[in-house]
Amino acid sequence: MPSPAYKRILLKLSGEALMGDDSYGINRATITRIVTEIKEVVDLGVQVAVVIGGGNIFRGVAPAAEGMDRATADYMGMLATVMNALALQDAMRHIGLVSRVQSALNIEQVAEPYIRGKAIRYLEEGRVVIFGAGTGNPFFTTDTAAALRGMEMNAEIVLKATKVDGVYTDDPKTNPDAMRYKSLSFDEAIIKNLKVMDATALTLCRDQSLPISVFSIFKQGALKRVVMGEDEGTKVLP
Ligand code: UDP
Repeated sequence: MPSPAYKRILLKLSGEALMGDDSYGINRATITRIVTEIKEVVDLGVQVAVVIGGGNIFRGVAPAAEGMDRATADYMGMLATVMNALALQDAMRHIGLVSRVQSALNIEQVAEPYIRGKAIRYLEEGRVVIFGAGTGNPFFTTDTAAALRGMEMNAEIVLKATKVDGVYTDDPKTNPDAMRYKSLSFDEAIIKNLKVMDATALTLCRDQSLPISVFSIFKQGALKRVVMGEDEGTKVLP
């Protein structure tokens, strides 16, 4: 039987991934499906760390935050990611997957603080580690948190789960001739301004030679196929 292509991955899930077809919040069936796919990968022996977004609940740059102090809105956004982290942990518990939540903001009654060594130990023990509160700093995104935690965890790759099944030459929704890249270089992604991750996250990954794989979380089995090294989504390589 073929073995997984990676021993340790950092999975970036956007808040929207948890919404399913809803317009807000967390869709129970969707979150259950996602954690079930994560479990499949864990059962293959892959160590999984997750950075969860918060866009399904609050986004610092969203219209809802208009007129607010940006840093305040961003802290609200980070708290939204903690809510998602707890929901993810709960959904994992329901299917028998053991996980730990670590938060970049101190809210000790709710989640343990981010401690790198402890997180690595959990991964080595086969537990999923869910990172909440992004980087803990306003003016950043959870994409950047994914790049940062990916490097800190010595992950071999950052898996960016999106709505689209990879990076395209153009918007596939509006341009039927748009082609999916199987792989591309960091410089190409940055120069062509291709939608992989935000620029801060992308340059961090480039500087540390941490590959990124962009794939659709809405495509059944895609996560496992990426982990098995099959042709799925787009790889951004040094
Ligand atoms: N955020 C932040 N610093 C971080 C990560 C997130 O201030 O390190 C805030 C920011 O307001 C952002 C919100 O949290 O809009 C939710 O994160 P993000 O938009 O990255 O979530 P996603 O799009 O992945 O759901």
